[in-house]
Amino acid sequence: MIPVNTPLLAGNEKKYINECIDTGWISSEGPFVTRFENEFSTYVDRDFGIAVANGSAALDIAVKAVGIEEGDEVIMPTFTIISPAFSVVKQGGVPVLVDCDPLTWGMDVNQIEDKITPKTKAIIAVHIYGFPVDIDPLMEIATKHGLKVIEDAAEMHGQTYKGKKCGSFGDISIFSFYPNKHITTGEGGMLVTNSKALNEKCKELRNLCFSPDKRFVHEDIGWNYRMTNLQAALGVAQLEQIDNFITRKREIGSLYNSSLSGIDCVDLMPVSTEYPKNIYWVFGILLNKKSKYDADEIMTRLRKHSIGSRPFFYPMHLQPVFLKMGLFKNENYPVAENLADNGFYIPSGLGISNEEIEEVASSLMLILS
Ligand SMILES: *Cc1c(COP(=O)(O)O)cnc(C)c1O
Repeated sequence: MIPVNTPLLAGNEKKYINECIDTGWISSEGPFVTRFENEFSTYVDRDFGIAVANGSAALDIAVKAVGIEEGDEVIMPTFTIISPAFSVVKQGGVPVLVDCDPLTWGMDVNQIEDKITPKTKAIIAVHIYGFPVDIDPLMEIATKHGLKVIEDAAEMHGQTYKGKKCGSFGDISIFSFYPNKHITTGEGGMLVTNSKALNEKCKELRNLCFSPDKRFVHEDIGWNYRMTNLQAALGVAQLEQIDNFITRKREIGSLYNSSLSGIDCVDLMPVSTEYPKNIYWVFGILLNKKSKYDADEIMTRLRKHSIGSRPFFYPMHLQPVFLKMGLFKNENYPVAENLADNGFYIPSGLGISNEEIEEVASSLMLILS
């Protein structure tokens, strides 16, 4: 079986984990946590890093920290993981959706301004799969209307936009370190910001809002979203290798591109746009009108060849959980719907070998021919 993702843990991971065990520092109090926060925030050009339990936790904290409250509207893409919308709804806010840019599959920035109302408080800019959102015009809109910006860079470790690191835009940015991300801590996430006030607020929210003055006294609602020293040890070791990881991800992308570019029933993501090169968080395949099958059928057939795959995100405006809440009634986002029906991604984790890539590509070609 070639799984859809295999992580690569061949650097100092074992050494640093052993250090945690040898010293007894396994909780969030251990020294790797601060070290990982400092090294990762520096890597993405931010002043502060707040390590947390996972990327979804980071979004919960970010949404609350920027002040989203009951009735506030937050603009975000419909084509993403559920986490940003959940975080907004949990604070009593209302997610307001835009469709995707058909070229990069990220949020279509041109649709944002039409969605702004007097209740709009923030935009969550979610980078999708390989390319960053077109951030400059998004920031202009946010500044013009006085909106907060949360950057969801969970898939963009090391990616840049016009020479600046993803994770350095807006009021606060979040990352995930799930095993299919460019670097992993098993489960894990981080918020990064340049604001001293947001840094302090996030640290409180991560730790049950313990009062700094008197322990076990709480003035606000928080979570236990702390990252352990064991996770951070993995993170430090992974970060040491990130340049190689990004190079390898692009190599995996280009191997697939050269094998699959001749197939006329699929559209592949571009290798680059006018600002960045594709970082291939995943290698996505979009079936076009010439395909005999839809994505589900192809994934079933891949499974018979012992190859793992995953469907694309299911759009927010079709999620039963939100429809039951009365959200997004009769809204349509044709680009996202097409991606959801006809998109899937194939194995591209850092642990994959070139032989496996070849096997995936040739099986896929056989199925699609
Ligand atoms: C992975 C991901 C998250 C959530 O991260 P977890 O660590 O899995 O909670 C959030 N946003 C995007 C865009 C992601 O890809």
